[in-house]
Amino acid sequence: MPTTTGHCTFCDIIRGAGEVSMCYEDADALAFMDIQPVNAGHLLVVPRAHYESLADVPPQLAMHLFDISMRLAGVVRQVTGCEDLNIVVNSGAAAGQDVFHYHVHVIPRREHDGFDIPLPFGGSAMPDRTLLDALAAQIISTLRDPMRTGNAEGSGALGGDDARRERRTTSARVGRRADAATERVRALATFSDTPRPAFRDDVDDAAPPRRWTAPREGAHGELRRAD
Ligand code: AMP
Ligand code: ZN
Repeated sequence: MPTTTGHCTFCDIIRGAGEVSMCYEDADALAFMDIQPVNAGHLLVVPRAHYESLADVPPQLAMHLFDISMRLAGVVRQVTGCEDLNIVVNSGAAAGQDVFHYHVHVIPRREHDGFDIPLPFGGSAMPDRTLLDALAAQIISTLRDPMRTGNAEGSGALGGDDARRERRTTSARVGRRADAATERVRALATFSDTPRPAFRDDVDDAAPPRRWTAPREGAHGELRRAD
């Protein structure tokens, strides 16, 4: 079982070595009740194979997991009477992932339940439109290049060592091929002040929102960092 973090609680559950309240199973995935639920009915949809984060999950499997999440969301609504819900993926430590076996949260929500995903983000101010446009343009051009999105033929299959290897090779190639424009936009897309703590409780609500660096266009249409 490929794990970079060593022991995996969800792999234990999947091979029958951990206590679990299972609510869905098929050949590729399962779902069980979260042991620290936001509200009753909070469940996790999990692939049987160990993939750490969104970047590692084969696209078709990711779609399958989302499909299950949608189906279970309807059932959870019926069972709990909660009309509202969040479907959440925390992918990577910076995004709040604690268990490094990919999973999708289905979280029924009630008024004043104390849980929050605070968007729009109060710690940020709207960036200059040129920065938004530059990022949108980069995304469009990257989408059009199948080698960069990992959508090249043969890389979208469900699991399998070959597919996994190919995806890793493709992402390595993508990394190497990141062109100067992408690097420039990445460099520009930063806050101009010092980072503030990401966690809500640590954010000083009285502090002004962080400002984005707005790029300037150079003589040849190139983007340049604002002074
Ligand atoms: P995340 O921060 O997205 O990685 O969330 C991990 C989730 O897994 C948390 O909501 C935990 O409550 C839940 N969790 C951790 N261990 C177990 C377990 N043994 N059975 C069910 N849920 C678990
Ligand atoms: Zn695992």
